[in-house]
Amino acid sequence: MLKENLREVEKNIQEACDRAKRAREEVTLIAVSKTKPLEDIEEILEEDVIDFGENKVQELCDKYEKISRPVNWHLIGHLQTNKVKYIVDKAALIHSVDSYKLAEQINKEAKKKNVVVPILLQVNIAKEDTKFGLEREEVLPLIEKIKDMDAIQIRGLMTIAPFVENPEENRVHFKNLYQLYIDIREKSINNVIMDTLSMGMTGDYQVAIEEGATMIRVGTGIFGERNYKI
Ligand SMILES: *Cc1c(COP(=O)(O)O)cnc(C)c1O
Repeated sequence: MLKENLREVEKNIQEACDRAKRAREEVTLIAVSKTKPLEDIEEILEEDVIDFGENKVQELCDKYEKISRPVNWHLIGHLQTNKVKYIVDKAALIHSVDSYKLAEQINKEAKKKNVVVPILLQVNIAKEDTKFGLEREEVLPLIEKIKDMDAIQIRGLMTIAPFVENPEENRVHFKNLYQLYIDIREKSINNVIMDTLSMGMTGDYQVAIEEGATMIRVGTGIFGERNYKI
């Protein structure tokens, strides 16, 4: 069942890449396993997917301990400063940095553990008032302030697009985030790599790929609906 879902997702990714004349290798699929059991992760690991996304620090740490195969764990959910210390040496990439204070804390805890943590800046590109993330205008000033922190590595941008019935409605937001990503990349800022654009979820990842996503985060499309009550 999960393997069939994955095959379907893979087919959709390939088709979107074909439409956009992009190579499949340009897009990393992150299987979003939040709320899902270890057996589900093991099943998908057998298919050579090695990137998994979690939105809670505790759950990521538990799964990190229990899965023995090599996995790139992505923290995709909001991160509180008091939880940073648990995650800096476990996350392959933190997608949700949206304040100076958080970047500073990640830098501090990463130094203690002698690691360099790759991060993305989360942007509220659709200006939704319920979401975390920086306003578009805040991104560059924040980069300028944190770029010299030596235990973090800025790799790009992330957004959570609005929940919509028709994925085409999010195309404009993906276009806008891509443009911001390119504008920043063209500045060639010291210590800023800008090779990662994390956008697109189950409802809209094909559109996101067409608009330049290098990482898509797919949960429901692979693992089925989530039950938050268990
Ligand atoms: C849950 C989650 C996803 C995956 O959502 P689906 O719609 O199930 O694919 C992607 N990104 C973030 C930040 C999430 O919290």
